[in-house]
Amino acid sequence: MRFALAAAAVAIPLVSACADPAQHARRMNYERQAAPSPSTTPAAPPAGTSAVGAASSSSGPAPAGSQAPSGVVPPGQTTPLAPAPAATSFSFSLLATNPTAVPLSNIVATALSATTRPLDSTAAPGSVPTFIPGAPALPNAALLNPANYPALDKVPPIDSPEVQQWIQEVQNSGFTIPGLNATLAGGCPANAAFAADTSRCWWTCGGCTRESDITECPTAKHWGLTYDDGPAFYTSDLLHFLDEKQLKSTFFVVGSRVISFPAILQDEYMDQHQIAVHTWSHPPLTTLSNEEIIAELGWSKKVIKDVLGVTPNMMRPPFGDIDDRVRAISLAMGLTPVMWTRISPSATFDTDDFNIHGGLTSVGQVLQNWQNILGNVSTRDSGFIVLEHDLFQQTVEVATGYILPDAIARGLTIEPVYSCLSRPLANAYIETNDNSTNPPPTGSGAAAVLSAPPTTNSDGTGVGAAGPQSTTTKGSSGGIETFRHGTTGAVLAAFASLFALL
Ligand SMILES: [Zn+2]
Repeated sequence: MRFALAAAAVAIPLVSACADPAQHARRMNYERQAAPSPSTTPAAPPAGTSAVGAASSSSGPAPAGSQAPSGVVPPGQTTPLAPAPAATSFSFSLLATNPTAVPLSNIVATALSATTRPLDSTAAPGSVPTFIPGAPALPNAALLNPANYPALDKVPPIDSPEVQQWIQEVQNSGFTIPGLNATLAGGCPANAAFAADTSRCWWTCGGCTRESDITECPTAKHWGLTYDDGPAFYTSDLLHFLDEKQLKSTFFVVGSRVISFPAILQDEYMDQHQIAVHTWSHPPLTTLSNEEIIAELGWSKKVIKDVLGVTPNMMRPPFGDIDDRVRAISLAMGLTPVMWTRISPSATFDTDDFNIHGGLTSVGQVLQNWQNILGNVSTRDSGFIVLEHDLFQQTVEVATGYILPDAIARGLTIEPVYSCLSRPLANAYIETNDNSTNPPPTGSGAAAVLSAPPTTNSDGTGVGAAGPQSTTTKGSSGGIETFRHGTTGAVLAAFASLFALL
């Protein structure tokens, strides 16, 4: 389907990913901590692109409440948030859009809230998910009692019997938790020594990954589809679209949101999507103590099991904020980290869709980011994983209206993470995993993994060996991904405003 906006039918020269001056300024906040970084060069559009769309975008100021509260600074961020992006033009090409897509001009921070869509179906308590051999019957979500869980959107206390038990289990797991100090709020610039310590393998500051991390799909043109931060008000719209197109996704869910929307989580699960952990309250995990990390992951595992009857075995760290300490604790709790693909400091597979809602980016920039991702996809020998969210109306609208229809038209194989790894769905959950063919991580194995050299980039230049103080030309822009996902304060403010009535 041809795609064009009437106001700009003529292709505008491709602008750099840093054409947005405000965003560029924010990037520079991080990059000045780094060695000279290559200029941001979007890859050329993939061959076969025929239709050209262009969008002019002007976002208003960020709404009150989306700014980080004083003192809450996420990894990578050093200064208060920059003003909303100025009017900018983008050029991107989409092979198809959804005929019922919300117009791009309406996908803005100031958009009025759309009516939420009822779930297409709700599973009856006691239903048996026959698509997962050995899965137990579905619990009754109506019996979920929030009083039995920690306060929402706060790091849970560590003195509860549950957390104390999980701490004991980690101690008995055989995993050695590296004796790394927690990082300070403020990310790479506020943690110069930690950021320069490549043995820590801190993804935020340099993009370091380990063999135990899942960062891509092995097969070219295979997209491991993921959505973070739900379930939420507009997740049902996304589920409806995915169902129409017979697509399955991986959902990294926030435990506090599961308390708010247990029926949506059950619907995701019974629709054969993969459910995975995204912590209880969405903090940058490297800033927490070992015990707090255990509490964040443990409560998330527990509430998911209470609602579904099974426990995920994959997790994604909020903001991608992971180091060897967080890795070891996650693995000790049976959770394998899943990141998003990063092939260089200037080429991360992050649409930045999260920041439309807060007015920090525009839908035009998000589609430009998608275009840049596609350009890199076309040259890769392996598949990929992208960061997107089902938290906000705007993120769902850009996914269902534009990104997914375009991806389908391009013939990408769109599938959940477990599937792109050629595993059966049963292997996505601890209780139903085939431990003989898909052995869970063990302490000795993980210790070996964590001491192995950092994973090498597919561009052959190495990731993670170069911290932000490195003298190599790779530099570091890990904070960009962190920033572009939003700030801790912004996330919590978004949660608070969205779910204040729950
Ligand atoms: Zn998140």
